[in-house]
Amino acid sequence: MSTDTSNPCFECGQCCQKLRVSFYHGEIASEQENDSTIKVPPELTVQLTPHLACMRGTETGKQGCVALSHDAEQGYRCTIYDQRPSPCRAFNIFEEDGSLNPLCDKLRKAAGLSSVPTE
Ligand code: SF4
Ligand code: SF4
Repeated sequence: MSTDTSNPCFECGQCCQKLRVSFYHGEIASEQENDSTIKVPPELTVQLTPHLACMRGTETGKQGCVALSHDAEQGYRCTIYDQRPSPCRAFNIFEEDGSLNPLCDKLRKAAGLSSVPTE
């Protein structure tokens, strides 16, 4: 999702609340590598398997990611935008060909939101 307040994600935040956000554990920051500014903060993750982790809160796909914030003024925001894991970077409103991402559209409709215009 985006943190740009003009972006439709501002009013939505559904992909951060309804999906399990899992990724290779190598994306998690480690103190030894001094990579905490570019990798996912470890305290915000849960280990699923020896090689797989997920964002804390998304284990069952029924709760929001712990890194998601919301307030009336700014709507939904990712508080670790520059450190978010690869699934979050890959999930967008639009596909590469400009069509709507069907899962994004499904999540929006389930939340009572309209489809994002394609033009
Ligand atoms: S479901 Fe789509 S519109 Fe909603 S926050 Fe995610 S990417 Fe943005
Ligand atoms: S890390 Fe950010 S973009 Fe990814 S699910 Fe959590 S709040 Fe959403």
